[in-house]
Amino acid sequence: MKDMKKATVVIVGSGPAGYSAAIYAARANMAPVVFEGFFAGLAGGQLMTTTEVENYAGFPEGISGPMLMDNMRRQAVRFGTEVLTEDVESVDFSKHPYEIRGTNHHFLADAVIIATGATAKRLEIPGAGEGEFWQKGVTACAVCDGAAPIFRNKPLFVIGGGDTACEEALFLTKFGSKVYLVHRREKLRASKIMQERVIANPKIEILWDTVVAKVEGDNVVRSLITRNLISGEEIKREAAGLFFAIGHKPNTDFLKGQIDLHENGYVAVVPGTTRTNKPLVYAAGDVQDHVYRQAITAAGTGCMAALEAERELAARGLF
Ligand code: NAP
Repeated sequence: MKDMKKATVVIVGSGPAGYSAAIYAARANMAPVVFEGFFAGLAGGQLMTTTEVENYAGFPEGISGPMLMDNMRRQAVRFGTEVLTEDVESVDFSKHPYEIRGTNHHFLADAVIIATGATAKRLEIPGAGEGEFWQKGVTACAVCDGAAPIFRNKPLFVIGGGDTACEEALFLTKFGSKVYLVHRREKLRASKIMQERVIANPKIEILWDTVVAKVEGDNVVRSLITRNLISGEEIKREAAGLFFAIGHKPNTDFLKGQIDLHENGYVAVVPGTTRTNKPLVYAAGDVQDHVYRQAITAAGTGCMAALEAERELAARGLF
């Protein structure tokens, strides 16, 4: 049995939501503990895999995703946050104070802020996996990777029919010679305005009722095979990049049975707040938001969670 420590607030996750919560909690003298996660690319959240962030207010020249996260982390630490580079394996919200079990540290926490974010979904396509062409032309974030030299003036493929897919296809027209939007149905799910932009863009061709059957190449992606789901016809096309844009999965597996989740796996919060169905358990950022999913909205809800925790702890005489 590992030593059980006591904390006023434990924050699980370290993107803009987790660190903003930590900054507010630390400045309120709550000495928060942040489990930032272990794996590179996970600690710091999705911004760690982004290049330039140009829409986070306060940085008129833009800032790199990793630098923004490092700044937030240092700001949190400066005010007394303890950051643990490990994952949370399980939680027990059945009795208060709540138990948080990390890989190396266990805590009893009076309040818990969940800020574990979401992960871009991928498809199991021959050639697209780890050890194949994953990260050698196959990625799940056009905005993060699209500017890489391997994609310049080459045909690029985006899979999906939602707003993300449309946004990524439009973004990639800045780099690729042509962008194919591969969609499994005959109708886009994206908002009308995004659909119109995609359809009006001469560099984008939509492949309706189509899936990607195989990715091929040498050290990087060189071609891929699409299959029409109606005719069954398979076509091999030159390709340098394949971008999954089929949605995100919230990182909530460790919360199942502990707090209320929506059917799609996102944490259910009381509208307009970060409160979950468990008293003193809050959720901030993408783990509870499948609509806005922006760094700045995540940071905003992180702030809300810390303020809500502080007030509720005070009201219960726990802080
Ligand atoms: P989404 O709306 O859930 O769309 C996912 C797309 O991927 C759908 O077209 C879906 O096809 C397709 N897909 C899912 N699983 C697939 C599979 N196994 N194989 C092939 N295709 C698959 O996700 P999203 O586009 O990431 O958007 C999420 C939310 O963020 C939405 O509310 C969206 O409006 C919002 N968002 C807004 C903006 C913006 O306004 N600028 C930008 C990005 C995201 P089907 O259509 O056949 O289901």
